[in-house]
Amino acid sequence: MKKHRNITLLGSTGSIGCSTLEVLSHLKEYFSVSSLSTNRNIDLLEEQIRRYRPKVVAVLNEERSAELRRRVGTLTDVLSGENGLLEIAGRDDSDIVLNALVGFSGLRPTLRAIETGKDIAIANKETLVVAGDLVTRMAREKGVRLLPVDSEHSAILQCLQGEDYASVTRLIITASGGPFLNYATERLQSVTVADALNHPTWKMGPKITIDSATLMNKGLEVIEACRLFNLSPDKIQVLIHPQSIIHSLVEFGDGSIKAQLGMPDMRLPIQYALMFPDRPSAPFKKIDFKTIDSLTFREPDTTRFPCLPLAFEALRMGGTAPAVLNAANEVAVQLFLEERIPFTAIAEIAGRALDAHKPVDDCTLDQIIAHDRLTRNAILHNFHPSASLPYSNTVGQKAAL
Ligand code: MG
Repeated sequence: MKKHRNITLLGSTGSIGCSTLEVLSHLKEYFSVSSLSTNRNIDLLEEQIRRYRPKVVAVLNEERSAELRRRVGTLTDVLSGENGLLEIAGRDDSDIVLNALVGFSGLRPTLRAIETGKDIAIANKETLVVAGDLVTRMAREKGVRLLPVDSEHSAILQCLQGEDYASVTRLIITASGGPFLNYATERLQSVTVADALNHPTWKMGPKITIDSATLMNKGLEVIEACRLFNLSPDKIQVLIHPQSIIHSLVEFGDGSIKAQLGMPDMRLPIQYALMFPDRPSAPFKKIDFKTIDSLTFREPDTTRFPCLPLAFEALRMGGTAPAVLNAANEVAVQLFLEERIPFTAIAEIAGRALDAHKPVDDCTLDQIIAHDRLTRNAILHNFHPSASLPYSNTVGQKAAL
């Protein structure tokens, strides 16, 4: 019988956070919720507090944390700002942290949790992209487990159970291809935010959904896989698999391939990360092969989706390059969501940032943070209606709506 553990859930009001709480509701005998956090969604966090009774919560936005404190009174402690987030990530009364924060902001809480000796279930892939070497090294030194929540990496971990890592010849990471899989280049230039947010198989938060539409998500996952499984990039292949039933595959030296299959439902990889390596039964929908016509595969089109080769390029450059690619992408995705740039400008901005970068090898955390900030500021500084970005196209698009 597994010991009962206290869990800290960072980013509890987002898509992964809500799915995690659903998973925890049928794993009550194994987990108690000790702390939760949100960026600014205090309405949902208040509901979660009343239902799951955490001892403490953190709200990144200072004003909203004050409002939540007024609402919940003595029911739970309400901390605020980045310090609040770091405090709940490192609390003594927590055994495992599930990090479902979005973007670079998840890095420091991850490091705090590792420093204080907690296992981490990691849904925040950007942490592993920008500082994967640092994070995995620290986890090894502290003897904590780093368990992937990303469905592809969960699939790989499942395929690797009982195997010798040295016999792995290839990781094949599958990609749905996103909503624009079959769009011609010209059509990609005029897609709207609503089009990009309409993912065919997965229901997720806005940042990752846009990343899925550009295939940057798959690029970030290639970097994440290299760091998590300590493999060179030339052993990693991406394959478009629009049905999202096979979540990834591992090939071994004898030519055998193992795959992991499941419905496209994040609750499955979340539960696997939390209960690893056990598999208690779960009330999720199972695959019914009668309803699946076919499982298809094809090579990704790197001309129409240049973000994918950019990620391989960042890996080849090494050092701070993945952090720069990630920072440029985060800013560009935000600009696209605000309808200030067209969809195709996301890859252009990310590509230009990487081209201009001279990577620093064996980088420290401070150097990573400095290059993240420099990259963001350079893009935002250059971002002006008269700059080279086709700003007027976006205005035209909005008028057409
Ligand atoms: Mg994924």
